Amino acid sequence: MNWFRNFMYGRYGMDGLGIFLIAVAFLLSLPLRFAWPRFLLLIAYIPLALEFARFVSRNIPQRARENEIFMRYWRPVWERLKKMYFYFKGMQTHKYYKCPSCRQKLRVPRGRGKIEITCPKCQTKFIKKT
Ligand SMILES: [Zn+2]
Repeated sequence: MNWFRNFMYGRYGMDGLGIFLIAVAFLLSLPLRFAWPRFLLLIAYIPLALEFARFVSRNIPQRARENEIFMRYWRPVWERLKKMYFYFKGMQTHKYYKCPSCRQKLRVPRGRGKIEITCPKCQTKFIKKT
């Protein structure tokens, strides 16, 4: 691995934008594998080539700036995706309700029949089937 360390000396390497570009390349390659004409598969290599150019780049401040701009847009999207993931995961074991008076989101376990729910925020009681 010594040659690799020497090669990477003074070069930018990997960052958040890099991982994203590789993921995009992979996701593009899945449907494009069945593309016709065949050379359309090369589209999937565009983000990969772009990231390779960034990876070996010696213009470190410029690459860091790109990543910073990317992360500014990507972070809220990622937080949203994470929230959605936990929401759908929770739906298997829990049910979600909104408090009828203060709209507070509540989570109750499934399969308990009809239960009285007390809102932790405003103490409103309401009955729901779980
Ligand atoms: Zn409430």
